[in-house]
Parts: sequence; structure tokens; C-alpha cells
Amino acid sequence: MPALPVRDDLRTVRPYNTRPFSSLVDPVALLNNNESPRPPEGRHLEVLRSAASLALATANRYPDTDLGTLRAALARYTGHGVRAEMVWPGNGSNEVLLHLLLAYGGPGRTALGFGPTYSMHEQIATITGTRWISADRGPDFGLTREAAATAVERHRPDIIFLCAPNNPTGTPLDRATLDVVLRTAPGLVVLDEAYVEFSAIGSRAGLLAEHPRLVISRTMSKAFGFAGIRVGFLLASPDVLAPLRIVALPYHLSTLTAAVALAALEQADELLAHIPSVLAERQRMRDALVGAGHAVAPSDANFLLFDTGADSSAVAAWLARQGVLVRDVGPAGWLRVSVGHPDENDIFLKTLAEFSSK
Ligand code: PMP
Repeated sequence: MPALPVRDDLRTVRPYNTRPFSSLVDPVALLNNNESPRPPEGRHLEVLRSAASLALATANRYPDTDLGTLRAALARYTGHGVRAEMVWPGNGSNEVLLHLLLAYGGPGRTALGFGPTYSMHEQIATITGTRWISADRGPDFGLTREAAATAVERHRPDIIFLCAPNNPTGTPLDRATLDVVLRTAPGLVVLDEAYVEFSAIGSRAGLLAEHPRLVISRTMSKAFGFAGIRVGFLLASPDVLAPLRIVALPYHLSTLTAAVALAALEQADELLAHIPSVLAERQRMRDALVGAGHAVAPSDANFLLFDTGADSSAVAAWLARQGVLVRDVGPAGWLRVSVGHPDENDIFLKTLAEFSSK
């Protein structure tokens, strides 16, 4: 049979690797997606339910395309002087990054990232026809201002991706490195802050006022525990956001999603109150891993990257057979594990120790 006429540049591209739900009947520790282990409960769940019910009562009408109320709530939540007209919401930060690259990337344009980093940045570049350029982080997974400046100068990319804290390493981004990139970038600088709520440094959204080509991406998938609802947003100047209205499909965010996101934002303080316990668990897991002889990258996020000292894909596969899901995302020998519920974390630590003593 002749090959299907799929785009030539997509023939060797693989889909993003999401959780293999079907391959494991009964996972006991879901530590592969950096999700929150806490589903909404009690009064919070009730508030979300009533928001969803109200939204369903207008299901016959198309959503509000302006999404003004949601944008205002996201701006309030972000703080740092961000106004509603600086917010672009969508179905997860992946989708809003896609909007950005549809408008600013494309054939003949380039995007630069510093690996190992979030693989969807490259994927989104590739599927929009934007040429991806990968520069390396240092051996400690940090990104120095010199390394960043050299790569920017050498490649003069249209779009630069930074990620703070970086996935999968968890490492923070120095202010000096960010500053040099903002000063020398010829085009847009995208700062992915998906995990910023866990970070000791906090959001750099305050820089938007002085840097008209800075775009920050945020998500409700991580700290808010809303991965299944799909809400992410870009923060940028209204001028940068204006062309996104051309490339986004009409009514891209459903009435239901917008209503539930708004209800969650109204309860932000309570929904985010668990963060200190995540950080305490992160420390406990780090101590246990280091105690067992593993190197662990410094993490400012809700996950840890650790050196298995072995073939990481074999370790990940063995853990998966025991129902423990972690992520084999990059540097040879290293695995990424999310900070989950304490019980899941205990199971992970115990199962990893069993592998090591095999
Ligand atoms: N950015 C980073 C760095 C991530 O790790 C993720 C999810 N793993 C995302 C963006 C996408 O998140 P979402 O589309 O769920 O908002």
C-alpha cells in the first residue's frame, strides 16, 4: 500500500508519551506525571460541582469568547501587576504554547531550548513547522548565563524557551541567566512556569512590565491539582497576545472548563494550602534517595530527578511491573519521580530499594 500523504516533516516524529493506562491494570504509585495526588474533596468539590451545574444550564450557547471573568481571576491570582488583558487562557499550557508557536513560529523560523527540558517545547515547535535547536545545560543540569548567552548569540533564534523550575531536572533558573537572555534575545522569550507554585523563587511575572517580548506560561495542572480539567494560560503584553486570536479556534475553552476554573481560583488559598506538605515530602524523599546512595538534582518543583546508577529504562520498566510509575525522560541513568501521596512515596522508595538489592 502506498504511504499515506502525511506531512514529510512529521514522518519521523513520535507522539508525546503519556501514561500507558492500558498497560497497567493496577498501579500502586502514580509518580510519572508530576500531578497533585489530591483530588478535590468536601466543600471544595461541592463548590466545583455547583459551578459545573450552572455552566451546564447554558450548554446550548457557545462559550464567552472574551473569557473576561476568567482572565481577570487569573490576573488576580498571578499578582505582580498582571492585568486581565495580559492573560491568554486555554486548555492547558500545552495548548496556549501551541497558539503562541502557530502565531510566532512556523516554516523558516527557529526555537531554541536548553536540554534536558520539557519535551513538548520541541514537539510543539516541530508540529508547527518551527525548526528546533537544542543547546545543552551544564553537567549539574543548571544553565549558566555564559552558556545561555553563547547559545543565543550563536543561533539568534526567533523564540527561546526557558523553564523555571525546569522539567525534568527540577533545577531553578538564575536571575542573571534570565536577564542575559532577556537582554540579548532577538525575538520572544518564553518562560515556562508550570511548577512555579512549588518554587522558592516564585514567579517572574513582575518582569513583564519592562520586557515586552517576554511570555510566561502557567498552568492549573500541577499545584492546583487540575490536570484533568485542562487549564493553562499565557501572560504577556496585550500586543503579543493579539495575534493569538487569529490562530486559536473559535470558542476554544468550553463554558464548563471556564466555570470550574473560576470556582477553583476563588478557592485558591485553600486549594494551594497543601504545598508546604509537598515540599516536606520532597525533602523526605530526597534524604531517603541520598541516604541510599543516589545523586539527586536540586529541585525547586514537585518532583525529583535522581541517578539510578543503572540502566534507567530497565529500572523504570521493573518499577512499572511492580505498579510504580516513574518517568524515564532523559539523561542516561537518571529517572524522574513525582512527589506523590506519602504512601505512594513510601512504596516507591521501598520498591526502588528492592531493585537495588536484586
Ligand atoms: N510545561 C511543563 C514544564 C510541564 O512539565 C507540563 C506538563 N507536564 C506542561 C507545561 C503542560 O501542562 P498542561 O498542558 O497540563 O498545562
